[in-house]
Amino acid sequence: MFSFKILKKSEKSKARLGVFSTPHGDIETPAFVPVATRASVRALPAQAIADAGSQLLISNTFHLHLTPGEQVVKEAGGIHRFMNWNKPLMTDSGGFQVLSFGFGREHSTGAMKEKQGERSVDEKTPSGIKITEEGVEFRSPKDGRKLFMGPKESIRIQEDVGADIIFAFDEATSPLTTREYMRTSLDRTHRWAQVCLDVKTRNDQALFGIVQGSEFDDLRSESATTIGAMPFGGFGIGGEYGIDKEAMAQRLALVTTLLPENKPRHVLGVGHPEDFSPVARGGGDTFDCITPTHYARHGTLFTSTGRLNMRNAEYVHAHVPIDTECSCAVCASYSRAYLSHLIRASEPTGMVLATMHNVHYFNILAKKVREQIALGEL
Ligand SMILES: [Zn+2]
Repeated sequence: MFSFKILKKSEKSKARLGVFSTPHGDIETPAFVPVATRASVRALPAQAIADAGSQLLISNTFHLHLTPGEQVVKEAGGIHRFMNWNKPLMTDSGGFQVLSFGFGREHSTGAMKEKQGERSVDEKTPSGIKITEEGVEFRSPKDGRKLFMGPKESIRIQEDVGADIIFAFDEATSPLTTREYMRTSLDRTHRWAQVCLDVKTRNDQALFGIVQGSEFDDLRSESATTIGAMPFGGFGIGGEYGIDKEAMAQRLALVTTLLPENKPRHVLGVGHPEDFSPVARGGGDTFDCITPTHYARHGTLFTSTGRLNMRNAEYVHAHVPIDTECSCAVCASYSRAYLSHLIRASEPTGMVLATMHNVHYFNILAKKVREQIALGEL
């Protein structure tokens, strides 16, 4: 039902070209994964996401549990039918949202730390939540009621939601986590990984274990060795990578060297345009990030000549294509001046068109990475 074929391995780095087959089709890797937090890539219906060249989406267990609730998704026949997306789909475990960065936020934009040297000595667990061996107790950001999610609950919810690829429930620690805290947290994450394997019942879903360890190389190695030895269908790599892109590539390479070669690896919450190459060189096969959708909503377009903020005055009279290099439907039909007008006027269409272009642009970037690997350039 699942298979991962490596078509070519780079001689220069850990990069590999592959095809990951799932019950809903094949994914050419490395692949960028748009974020569909609440069973929707915000502003785009499923057909438009597919037209933008997307192969795989990631939805959010925590958010779907709150709204509309996994029962509703299950009643619909699963998330693919619910959102009319017939291609591969993954759900994250919810651990990230429950634990680290407060509630109501989308998937990470903060996997790269802005500044170094701000490690808090007293950092324990985030406030307002309680972590036990069974899981995490927290209050709903929606209505304040007490909720609980642990490895058993996360897998049950993810089985009800019905994505092709699901993730083990892990403790995604804060970027300021101390080594001492990371040590304790890592052991718990590894125990939870085993619980997830034990309680999983569906055979048509691939369960990915998650490697943590922040930017501590010895803990990263330990986590990769421990998680890599468990019978997961693939692996997620989460948490901090350090302050620059090369550190990320090296740290990913350290982890992927220790993971079984014949299984796919997903890098969680990383995917700015400048991350594509280091993620691939580090041995990542798929990676998700809210960047294209998040920036589109704020009027920023990613183009072959850099980022364009459509709110800038210079675009008001720019009756020229958005990006002459881009082959997307938006660039074929609309000007910078029109996009600028829509975004300035807060017309929802502006968000739709900007998101369509950005998602297409990111998918083309990933395609270029695949071409570079095929040509032996990466
Ligand atoms: Zn375009």
